[in-house]
Amino acid sequence: MGNISSNTVRILNELSDGVELVAAGKGRSAEDILEAVEAGVKIIGENYVQEAEEKFSLIGPKVKWHFIGHLQKNKVKRAVRIFDMIETVDSVEIAAIVNKSCSEIKKVMPVLIEVNSAKEENKSGVFPEDLENLVKDMLGFKNIKVSGLMTMGPALKNPEDYRPYFRDTKALFDKIKINHDIKYLSMGMSDSYCIAIQEGANLIRLGTAIFGARR
Ligand SMILES: *Cc1c(COP(=O)(O)O)cnc(C)c1O
Repeated sequence: MGNISSNTVRILNELSDGVELVAAGKGRSAEDILEAVEAGVKIIGENYVQEAEEKFSLIGPKVKWHFIGHLQKNKVKRAVRIFDMIETVDSVEIAAIVNKSCSEIKKVMPVLIEVNSAKEENKSGVFPEDLENLVKDMLGFKNIKVSGLMTMGPALKNPEDYRPYFRDTKALFDKIKINHDIKYLSMGMSDSYCIAIQEGANLIRLGTAIFGARR
């Protein structure tokens, strides 16, 4: 068994029921991704539309495709054709464009709202205090289904330091959930996913832990 297969099997075995794995595929070949898929990965996360299209043409819809990068307005039309979920909607402007492109192809797109949980300037994600208004503004979009929240958190050296950001995002998730049918809380990467799961994540996005270090 190759490293990618054994990493995938080990991680999948260690995950508790209800936690789904997204293999973050940026910079990885279709061949490497297929090894992870054969070992049990069911969702691929991609950051760039062009790169995702190339891999989608080789791998296709036997897995789910999640967009996890920063979505540019001029790429939305192409993105909505291949992706099954967009995890990084953070403004009503981008939501409106996703909605319009989806209506043109008669698709309802599940989306997660990206939360800038550390309120970092120049980073994507809606600030926590603006989240409820964004959810309300998105209710009118018939071709979008708000399905949960996603957060990155700041770049930190010590995994334990992510905990407060994950905890705050879970609290926001619980609050929104009172009035909306949301399901997914996407948080945690290779260095932080154990903490994220402890704090309530049910979607984790792993690259390095599956494929090894990026070059
Ligand atoms: C690259 C990436 C990941 C995975 O990062 P690793 O540290 O390699 O696990 C997760 N989420 C997003 C949004 C990413 O861009």
